[in-house]
Amino acid sequence: MKLLDGKICAESLVAGIAKRVACYVNSGLRKPHMTVILVGEHAPSESYVKSKIKSCVSAGFESALLRFPESISESDLLANIAEINGNSATDGLIVQLPVPKHINSQNIINAIDPPKDIDGFHPTNFGRMTLGQKAFRPATAYGICKLLQFYEIPVKGKHCVVIGRSNIVGKPISIMLSNDFEIGNATVTLAHIETPRALLLDETRRADIIVVAVGIPGFITEDMVKEGVVMIDVGINRLNNGKLVGDVDFEHVSAKCSWITPVPGGVGRMTVAALMINTLMAYENNLMAYENNLMAYKDNFSLE
Ligand code: NAP
Repeated sequence: MKLLDGKICAESLVAGIAKRVACYVNSGLRKPHMTVILVGEHAPSESYVKSKIKSCVSAGFESALLRFPESISESDLLANIAEINGNSATDGLIVQLPVPKHINSQNIINAIDPPKDIDGFHPTNFGRMTLGQKAFRPATAYGICKLLQFYEIPVKGKHCVVIGRSNIVGKPISIMLSNDFEIGNATVTLAHIETPRALLLDETRRADIIVVAVGIPGFITEDMVKEGVVMIDVGINRLNNGKLVGDVDFEHVSAKCSWITPVPGGVGRMTVAALMINTLMAYENNLMAYENNLMAYKDNFSLE
């Protein structure tokens, strides 16, 4: 069994981004900028936001963390998002989920300007990604693809089973692995809570690659997988004793895997790295728009 080490892969990707950013900055351009909105106090969100801001520093980005109280109304939050949408100094905007229950998270996602939607959750980006067009790809799913690419794990033609169909993980990774993408062209089964147990076992036992994102510790057991499977454990579950575990019974399952992601240090690190890639892409899109505007300006000028 070998580890798909998200820390090593993420550090390598972020170092590459930092090099590219240094070139831009040395040529007199501003740094990429990410804004993160955090509503209320939620311990896991605090820690996710902290790692995103820390990664911005490593990538050479600027960042801003905007905190709002739990009591903020949906309309006030939307007004703040509209203001950031209009701020050309911000390339990427994340609203850390979950938001408090009185706020409709889909309304918040829909309000983010698609060119700043580095989480890739806006229907425009999700739709474009689904159609195989250029888009910000949902960060966790994109991070998984980058990890598979880094370790040169063959995906094309493989039988993948994705368990969990959330809009942020299961659904996008099932689409990305089946699309005609560089890391894709697999035959994908998407299982969820209504998948009969016998069918789930049939599928997982012949899967070459399993991506599990259900949020249940120990969900994948040794009897559910074949020898040599590649196991991607997306789950992040805090046990009563404070230990952080994934959705896989790592102790017993890992011996059967050819490759497996650890928790922590696997997919979580890659989610943050993918956000950095998306932010760089948002920044470069802005630079191109800026250059096009300059050219338009010069054309207009020469006509005078
Ligand atoms: P979620 O929105 O709760 O979705 C869980 C999915 O699992 C749902 O689609 C649900 O099916 C399915 N499910 C639940 N029980 C099942 C069962 N017994 N059999 C088959 N499917 C079952 O969760 P999420 O946001 O996708 O997150 C999943 C896990 O990944 C959590 O532990 C979360 O903390 C973690 N996560 C990690 C990262 C990272 O960066 N590593 C990022 C995001 C999430 P239904 O749709 O039918 O209810």
